[in-house]
Amino acid sequence: MNVLVINCGSSSLKFQLINSESEQVLAKGLCERIGIDGSLTYQPAGGEKVKSQKAMPTHTEAIQFVIDALTDAETGVVKSLDEIGAVGHRVVHGGEKFAQSVVITEEVKKAIEECNDLAPLHNPANLIGINACQELMPGTPMVAVFDTAFHQTMPEKAYMYGLPYEYYDKYKVRRYGFHGTSHSFVSKRAAELAGKPYDQLKTIVCHLGNGASICAVENGKSVDTSMGLTPLEGLVMGTRSGDIDPAILEFIAKKEDLDIAGLMTMLNKKSGVYGLSNNLSSDFRDLDAAAAEGNKEAEIALDVFCYRVAKYVGSYVAAMNGVDVIAFTAGIGENAGNVREKVVEYLGYLGIELNKEANGVRGEEITISTPDSKVTVMVIPTNEELAIARETVALV
Ligand code: AMP
Repeated sequence: MNVLVINCGSSSLKFQLINSESEQVLAKGLCERIGIDGSLTYQPAGGEKVKSQKAMPTHTEAIQFVIDALTDAETGVVKSLDEIGAVGHRVVHGGEKFAQSVVITEEVKKAIEECNDLAPLHNPANLIGINACQELMPGTPMVAVFDTAFHQTMPEKAYMYGLPYEYYDKYKVRRYGFHGTSHSFVSKRAAELAGKPYDQLKTIVCHLGNGASICAVENGKSVDTSMGLTPLEGLVMGTRSGDIDPAILEFIAKKEDLDIAGLMTMLNKKSGVYGLSNNLSSDFRDLDAAAAEGNKEAEIALDVFCYRVAKYVGSYVAAMNGVDVIAFTAGIGENAGNVREKVVEYLGYLGIELNKEANGVRGEEITISTPDSKVTVMVIPTNEELAIARETVALV
């Protein structure tokens, strides 16, 4: 079956058409500036990437252009819509309502809408994408795959904050966690590569991308994760602060005359390694280059990032009373050998030994610890689209 995987934002839409038997990507692309002017980038497997300007007043036009491109006589990869068996939608927040992926019905859409409050920038956009697809592909089954669902197995002690209980009762303020599709995909793959049953393994997944989170997976279940009610908590990220002393907010608000919106912009967009490097860059390639030339702030940013990752890994070893596998994934986790090396240096007490040669290999699944290492350390490229396609096929 061919599955169309859709990741819909407020003004953009990423898509991949995946054949579920071969697990090959048949075509992929991106619509940008929806509601402003509009452009479509489209690339069939083995073909050229082509970007064209298209008027996209709404997501419905954007998805119509995606369908036109996929079925185009010259550059298309299917003859008609009949060859698309299902659509898998990434949905950011499933609240406490969704502990797994579901086939989309009217009730499911209502329940997703009820989670809008928890992800006001993402869930409404995800719903717009679902509605536009349903309008243009009325007979095709659709599945929602949630970023939060994998973490619904966390125990209360991991998801409750030290806040008045009434905020949980009234507003469901608690840890939800994100990147669940990636943490689930990578931890399963880690068990396969380790040749151990998934339900008998303690794994820590370090999803280190522009957004970054860590997850403790014990016997196939997420038991703790570093992002919280929103993706702002936890690691120092590209532009997000991660954990800080909450009292800093009042302090800075008074000094800089910032309101709540100003503070949130500062925490989400101006902090992280970008802010730490004195606005040099959120990209680790730039920071590495600057640090190599002696830029002090870039060096500090990299140090703070790696130290925070190592501290979280240590806390999850405590949470699970041990660890068998540590897996690195996403843009930084997959590509930045220097970051992995720095993190692993902190973890010598676990009996980890790094195989430096393997750690230098890029772009493939690889074990980067030595055979004698007490904990196996791996690099496992994540593939959230494939994970969504698999979930979709399993449900339809
Ligand atoms: P992601 O959000 O998973 O797409 O990750 C994007 C981030 O990965 C970028 O902002 C970079 O910081 C990082 N990244 C990508 N390629 C490299 C590379 N070759 N070396 C170091 N960092 C990289």
